[in-house]
Amino acid sequence: MKQSRWKCPTCGHGLLAPQRPRRDDVRRYCLPCSSKTGKLVERVAPALDAQRNARDMARREREKAQRARKRQANNTPRKVAQRHWSKVGEHGMLIKPETARLWNLLKKFPNELPQGSSTRYRANRMKPPTVELKEKYWHVDDEGHLFTRGASYAYISEHRIAVTPCTSWETLAHEIIHCAGYYNHDRNFYLALKWLTETRWKVRVDYSKVTRWGYDVDYIIIKQIKDVVKQHFDKPVETKVETPSS
Ligand SMILES: [Zn+2]
Ligand SMILES: [Zn+2]
Repeated sequence: MKQSRWKCPTCGHGLLAPQRPRRDDVRRYCLPCSSKTGKLVERVAPALDAQRNARDMARREREKAQRARKRQANNTPRKVAQRHWSKVGEHGMLIKPETARLWNLLKKFPNELPQGSSTRYRANRMKPPTVELKEKYWHVDDEGHLFTRGASYAYISEHRIAVTPCTSWETLAHEIIHCAGYYNHDRNFYLALKWLTETRWKVRVDYSKVTRWGYDVDYIIIKQIKDVVKQHFDKPVETKVETPSS
């Protein structure tokens, strides 16, 4: 067992004892001084204290460096990623041109279909909705790798869409229908989304399995068009952003 020199802080008398003596080991205490003062006087081990201090210092340094790395990871790659992801959605879809394309299609929205709050008026008079990235769902790890969570989530406020990085085509189309003035997830909303999907992809979307209007319908659409959409954009996009080596 490793031994260390233990010293009484009062009289300076020292002896060798294990580095980790048991709580009740008599060598922990200076008995003459204890009986003189009436209180247990504990011996100290200066070498051990110095070691412990050095260890603490090293740990603090390590933690500081780790925090610095994390800070860098959160800043540099985040900015790189932000530039990248504010342009690119799932499968390499370019978000802005796709938004403009869908918005322009709505200018031809047929009169026979239930209108949102003046769908075509909006599409004709207004610029395409602005798309912003929602950074809340980003996560950058210590190495600077970027992960996204809730990748298909998006929300709308008036003429603005906020999407998470790597948003899917379906989500974008869904939010654009909201921008066209369909605010509830009702039959009218999903008829408009169906029309937009069919017009954009020249496919037929089958609603025979729809039992009620709501998010379920989004999944029914996605199932039917995912291969078409994937094939169309089919450019795998980078999902990791490396920290520039320093
Ligand atoms: Zn003593
Ligand atoms: Zn919605």
